[in-house]
Amino acid sequence: MIIEIEDLCKTYQLGDTAVRALDGVDLTVSEGEMAAVMGPSGSGKSTLMHIVGCLDTPDKGIYRLKGEDVSVLSKDRLADIRNRRIGFVFQTFNLLPRLTALENVELPLLYAGKRNTRDIAVNALATVGLTDRMKHEPNQLSGGQRQRVAVARAIVTDPAILLADEPTGNLDTKTGDEILSLFLDLNAGGRTVIIVTHDEEVAERCKRIIRIRDGRIE
Ligand code: ADP
Repeated sequence: MIIEIEDLCKTYQLGDTAVRALDGVDLTVSEGEMAAVMGPSGSGKSTLMHIVGCLDTPDKGIYRLKGEDVSVLSKDRLADIRNRRIGFVFQTFNLLPRLTALENVELPLLYAGKRNTRDIAVNALATVGLTDRMKHEPNQLSGGQRQRVAVARAIVTDPAILLADEPTGNLDTKTGDEILSLFLDLNAGGRTVIIVTHDEEVAERCKRIIRIRDGRIE
């Protein structure tokens, strides 16, 4: 199991009311799975993804990532695990506007102190089919191409898990299908992929659907 979650709870304090965002979540994900996370707005999807992505910690419960209990780690250790093991893709791409596609993809490698960053970034861009757009800045690219750059940036450090939050939400249907196909290809290559989506058609193409409601897995 790459992800093992037991009785995970997370409560937010809003004034004097406590909001139970996660209320006893049990979940396991195997290495190489491709799963969609679905649920109504406010059901706890983002909270769960933040914890799975090591951006946040639970109040209670256990989260083991590749066998290591990460629910008890300090912020620094958590950031280290996140940089090494998790790749993120967002609905709004989140590319840096003044950098070329290649420079955007190279950035996580520079942060990680890697060598040969240029070659590795070029390879990642080739994987997503953007070899001919490497010198373009984000505003010179279409939405689908921007998302490809974002996927290249997410995989460039060779993370164990790829987490995507509504990655097709800002794209037209055809472009969204192409991006989803890219995730399916990456999954076929052995990568574990988890996609939050509101779109039933997107979820149907994933091999597993995880449904969440009121902070619990259905
Ligand atoms: P989803 O992603 O499914 O829309 P969230 O995980 O964002 O759900 O939110 C789950 C619940 O937790 C909601 O009721 C939301 O209002 C609440 N919540 C999320 N983040 C915070 C926060 N930082 N402070 C207070 N309440 C929050």
